[in-house]
Amino acid sequence: MISQEDLFKKIIAHSKEYGFIFQSSEIYDGLSAVYDYGQNGVELKNNIRKYWWDAMTRLNENIVGIDAAIFMHPKTWEASGHVSAFNDPLIDNKDSKKRYRADVLIEEYLEKIEGKIQKEIDKAANRFGDAFNEKQFRETNQRVLTNQQKIDETKARFIKALEDNDLAELKKIIEDAEIACPISGSKDWTDVRQFNLMFSTQLGSISEEANTIYLRPETAQGIFVNYLNVQKTGRMKIPFGIAQVGKAFRNEIVARQFIFRMREFEQMEMQFFVKPGTEMEWYNYWKEKRLKWHKSLGMGNEKYRFHDHDKLAHYANAAADIEFLFPMGFREVEGIHSRTDFDLGNHEKVSGKKIQYFDTEENKNYTPYVVETSIGLDRMFLSVVSNAYNEETVENTGDQRIVMKIPPVLAPVKLAVFPLTKKDGLPEKAREIMDTLKFDFNCQYEEKDTIGRRYRRQDAIGTPFCITVDHQTLDDNTVTIRYRDTMEQERVAIDKLGSIMEEKVSMKKLLKEL
Ligand code: ATP
Repeated sequence: MISQEDLFKKIIAHSKEYGFIFQSSEIYDGLSAVYDYGQNGVELKNNIRKYWWDAMTRLNENIVGIDAAIFMHPKTWEASGHVSAFNDPLIDNKDSKKRYRADVLIEEYLEKIEGKIQKEIDKAANRFGDAFNEKQFRETNQRVLTNQQKIDETKARFIKALEDNDLAELKKIIEDAEIACPISGSKDWTDVRQFNLMFSTQLGSISEEANTIYLRPETAQGIFVNYLNVQKTGRMKIPFGIAQVGKAFRNEIVARQFIFRMREFEQMEMQFFVKPGTEMEWYNYWKEKRLKWHKSLGMGNEKYRFHDHDKLAHYANAAADIEFLFPMGFREVEGIHSRTDFDLGNHEKVSGKKIQYFDTEENKNYTPYVVETSIGLDRMFLSVVSNAYNEETVENTGDQRIVMKIPPVLAPVKLAVFPLTKKDGLPEKAREIMDTLKFDFNCQYEEKDTIGRRYRRQDAIGTPFCITVDHQTLDDNTVTIRYRDTMEQERVAIDKLGSIMEEKVSMKKLLKEL
């Protein structure tokens, strides 16, 4: 068994080797936490985006899309609270000069102690076998009790410090817990400071009056400021939603874990406008809907769980994450937030424009409440590739193969077409097949190397079907089709290919089941 850390390294290396993800500006040694998508990555990313977009806008008559600009009027970010509150508490280690998020240091410390408790439990469970009673063990084992007390005390202080915005107390917690810098091992820390995560730049030429604008840290505000435009021009009736996919930028203090935490990333967000008082109903509705969307991809129902928030963001009255089991554990992939009338209300105050809805049934005006679903496209991508990566020993030959078991509907290439040899009219026949299928499916033609090696290359990028065109094909219009996951092969008629593929890779089929 390889460790999860090694597995993650392999996934990163594989993503590069097979054209999924490259470090940005690699020839200049890269730019930290910024990544580029390669020839296969872009196809996979487009497919995820399309599956989300169609599920939102096509399956819901009352959800429409927009595409707002990245730059927005600076007042937007005052109204949204990002100028004053979009901060992370940072701390530097004086010896290594490395910068950390104080809250993350404390969370990792808590996880570490939790890990120690789990180890004791696993050990005891092994020793006692079926007779093991975990509850009793937790209540009586001295080492577990001491550690649990540490967790409870630290957690209570931590939550209070965050609520009170007490930076001195955050530092004190780090010192009292004797948290050391993982690089230098030193416990010599600077004070904790607030760090705003927004990137800023100047609009216009330098001679003009300086005008600071921000790269948007979330796509949601582009939707809020367009609420009236869409509602009026689309004659939308509440409840209705606006969906958007686009880039967001955050100057993350600690950017780690590959594309899990990036400084430039893409969000897929949907703001659903509802009548005040109905928001919890819709919040629960969207939680279930979104979980169903994730599960429909067949990556394993046990890989998902909800995490309900105890500590809410400044704008929310309820929030939950959908977490996915990444190689580093369960982590957030999507957030569902009940944002009340916080955003529209503040835009109304700051802009001085009336942003309300006239409810004809109730015969009154109100500021709609908002339930939002917000998923990171890149993070979703990471969940797909990390789940897909498989190393296998092929049964009869004993060969090793790396196969990306990407949900077929998302696979970058759906069909690879191989002529057995480069002569006798086989390449021409292969191209003919491609020319009929390429309008519906992304197809790839390959004639180099043995068929076995061509299979391996397609396995490595997750192509669900490979077909081989041989001499028999010229006689009877049949080909050998080979399936990625089972490696089974069968002879099929060329005119059946379209329907075989449609059955397995069609987005339509998945959408119908949602
Ligand atoms: P985290 O707690 O991981 O920083 P968040 O709670 O700040 O995330 P939201 O503001 O709710 O995240 O953003 C919604 C989604 O956007 C997240 O669920 C995640 O998938 C994605 N996302 C947020 N920040 C990043 C980032 N730096 N890189 C990649 N994806 C991100």
